[in-house]
This record gives sequence, structure tokens and C-alpha cells, in this order.
Amino acid sequence: MLAMQQQLDFIAYIQRMLVEGDFSATYKFALLHALADISIEKHQIDSDLELQISFDELVEKFVTLYWHQATPFGGINNDTKQLLLQNTNSKKQAKIITTLHNAKLNNINSVSQLMKSNEFKSIRSSTLKTIKDGPLWLLQKLNGKDECFLYPHTKSSKYITLNAGIASCFRRFYDLVTYLAKNAWLQKIQSIKHNQTLIGPQSQLHDFLFGFDRNALTKAKPILVELQSNSCFYCQKPMKNDVEVDHFIPFARYANDLGHNFVAAHRTCNNNKRDFLAAQQHRERWQNQNLVVNSQIISNELSAYFHCDADKSLAVSNWAYQVAQANNAKLWLGNKDHFEQAKPTADIVAFPQAKQPELDQVAEPEVSLKSIDDALKLPFFPNLKIACGHFKTGDDSDMEFKTLPTGLGLSDKDLKTHFLAHASGNSMNGGKNPISDGDLLLLEWITPNNAGSLRDQIVAIEQDGESGEGQYLLRKVNKLPNGQYELIAKNPEYKVIIADEGMRTFARFKQVVAE
Ligand SMILES: [Zn+2]
Repeated sequence: MLAMQQQLDFIAYIQRMLVEGDFSATYKFALLHALADISIEKHQIDSDLELQISFDELVEKFVTLYWHQATPFGGINNDTKQLLLQNTNSKKQAKIITTLHNAKLNNINSVSQLMKSNEFKSIRSSTLKTIKDGPLWLLQKLNGKDECFLYPHTKSSKYITLNAGIASCFRRFYDLVTYLAKNAWLQKIQSIKHNQTLIGPQSQLHDFLFGFDRNALTKAKPILVELQSNSCFYCQKPMKNDVEVDHFIPFARYANDLGHNFVAAHRTCNNNKRDFLAAQQHRERWQNQNLVVNSQIISNELSAYFHCDADKSLAVSNWAYQVAQANNAKLWLGNKDHFEQAKPTADIVAFPQAKQPELDQVAEPEVSLKSIDDALKLPFFPNLKIACGHFKTGDDSDMEFKTLPTGLGLSDKDLKTHFLAHASGNSMNGGKNPISDGDLLLLEWITPNNAGSLRDQIVAIEQDGESGEGQYLLRKVNKLPNGQYELIAKNPEYKVIIADEGMRTFARFKQVVAE
């Protein structure tokens, strides 16, 4: 938990920054918005720590924030005079607007398309130059003096590091910070003469600058309708011509279109939900539908139009529900006025980019375990050797049921979530509860609903071997300040491994079972 004083200092600093800072262009508002966004998009087990943000992440955010603003206000594509000016000091257009507008003229229709295009390399370096020449080292200049409250000015590296506790403040005050940033940004644009004639008296300026593109949303409709077998995501009844694409985490809470955040729903259900977060039961279904079962399909189908990153969507949803719990917010269940109170739930944490475990499907074959035998039995994988040492090939194709050893304190419900496998190797043979070669291990599948924090736990990790075969390893997990995870063996003779994107956590070690 953050010290109250730091939170107050943070608010005071943001306020001073907007009042005392020198904002001749809109870049600093974009940077402030970007820092807030990135703070909620990155998994951090302990958000009170420092947070490292790479220049690439900043560039991606800038391009996203300015993408729609680089559209001519009147809607005539090649009319550069209709581009809103983003700079007060000169009559010149802000560089990023010109760059992105040119890309649009070259028939690039979305940020994700842009990032895959050949032009992106040069756009990336010119945007980075803009960021480094401008807002990055100027944002924290107050009254002509550097006051590095958010991040130190380490100009030689390829990233910045938010000071300890800052990411946590951005998460806590995300709504406030982005509201202030957008408002100041909007006022800046309205204050420029050239823009006033373009905008006219009663304008939709806010929606133009920060709203979502309703036309783009329709791109997501066919695939969602198919994945949901034409049923409304919320009420599960069939849909006819009244289908709308809903932002599962409301756009009002988090104003970025992420491909995995969409569901298809009745217009009425969508309208009833308004800007509320959906109830816990919907959250679980959304996770299962979009992040587990169809994660890959959604990325394949939608990445031409939207940024698709299941891990980021998961982080954003965890953040949104955390805030809801902290605020005792009500969550929308259904109909016009059916709500529940937000309750604390375990946060879901995965390795960066990790897919949800495929093995999970083995754990939950909808076989009724009871019908096989009345005695309590657990799935046991004779060929799955959980390596204590180096990754070792194994396979889960063979499953049998082993009678549950007594004294484990497992309930009926646990039978679906636990399984048995043998250990192999001696890397965990040390410390307080040693695991020896050949021990029978009780493990619990890690699913989106029970992942919790993995820090300091012993978990089984899977990676694909060179020919695609599964390899398994048991290690203790520790999160490093730079966001990486290290996998530690208890036997000091085995080296620490840094987790990479190819590794997935799939089970939590519970205990050694006597045979
Ligand atoms: Zn419905």
C-alpha cells in the first residue's frame, strides 16, 4: 500500500505540472496520458516498485493517441488545411500529425496496420526524435527547473524508469490524470486561431480527438457473432439485427480499442450496461471467451484493425476491477437496473505474453470423476515428468486416475483443479521442503480464475521444445524490479533462469504426496 503522503505529492505535482509547465505543443499532454496508460497496461505484481518503460512503448502510445487526430477535421482526406494545428508557437503543424497524415494518404487505415508497414521504421525513429527533443525531458521542467518526480532524466538509456510508487499512483488516479490531460489538450487545440475557424461554434471536438471510431467497431462484429454462436454476450439470448459491439471494459474507463476487449451484445443490453463494469460472472466469461479459448482467433482476425494483445487486455481488466473494488463500485449484472457490489477477487497474473495453459483442457475434461468410481480419484499423468533441473520433455497424452491419498484435505471441488505427476531431477532438493527425484507431486492447474500472485510460489512451467514437444520445469518464481521473472532452483547448484515469452506457467506446486 502506498503512503498517503506520496499520493498527495503525486496529485500536487500533476497539478503544478499543468499550471506551471510550459505547453506550447500538445506533446506533453500526450506523454502524460501515455505514462498513465502504460502504467495500467503492464502487469506488475507489486505496483509499488519502479516501472521500466521502453522508448518503443512510448512511440507506440504516441502513434495511437495521435492517429485519429491526424484526420482532417472536415473529413476530406487529402486536405491538409483541415488538420487541426497542435502547436501554438509556430504556424507549423506538429511533426507527428504530418507524418501520420501522410501514412493515411498511403492507404494505411489503422495503427496496427501502420506498425506492420515498411514505413514504420522511419516513423518510429522520427516519432522517437520528437519525443526525445520535446516532452520527455521537458515535461518535468517546472518554472525552468528540472523536478524529476516521475522519472529520472537518464538520457543515455533506451527507456525511462518511473520512480518507485509512481506507476501505482497512475493506476490509482488514472481517471483523474487522463481527464486533466485530455482537458488541457482540448483547450490547447481550441485556443489556436486556425482551429477555431475549422471547428465552428458547436463542435464534436472531444469525440473527434478522443472518441472511438464507430465504423471500425463494425469490423469486429462478424467474428464475435460467430464466436458467440449468435447469442448476446450478456443475456445469452439469440440476436437478430440488433447486434452492437460492446467495449467489455467501458471506453469511458479506458479509451483505447484493444481487439480482445470487444463482445457482441443486443443494442438494449449494451445500452443498459452504459459505462458500468460488468459483474464478476460476465468478467469470468469474457476472460474465458476472449483471452483463453479464442485468444488466437481474435488476434488473427482483428489485428489488421485493432491493437491485439491478450496480456494487455488482461492487465487493463485487472486494473479496472481493482479500482472498482477499492471504490466499492456497483457492477452491472443485466437489465436496466440489476447490479452487484464489486468484491475482492484474486488478480490474474501471467508471464508477459504468456498464453493461458492449454493443458488446462486436460484438467477439465467434463468427465464426472464421480461416475468413474465412487472413491475420490485424481488425474495422474504417468508420462509427464516435472523436471527439477533443466526443462525436460514430457507429455500429457496419457492420463489415468489415481486414488486420492488420504490426509490431503481436498474437497470434491478440488478434484477438477488438481492433478498428480512425478518429479524428476534434484534441483528442488534443498531448503525447507525438499523435493526429491521420483516424488509424487500434487499440483493445481493455474487458470485465469485462480492464478493470483505467483511470487514466491513454486510453479510448474511449460515451454515448447525445438520440435514442438512440451517441456516442463518446476521452479520458484521471483519478480525482478525490471519486470522480468526469475526462476530459482532450491538446490544452489542449478543456475537461475530468466523467464522468457516462450514459457507458460501451468500449475502450482502444492505438496509432495506419499505413495
Ligand atoms: Zn442481450
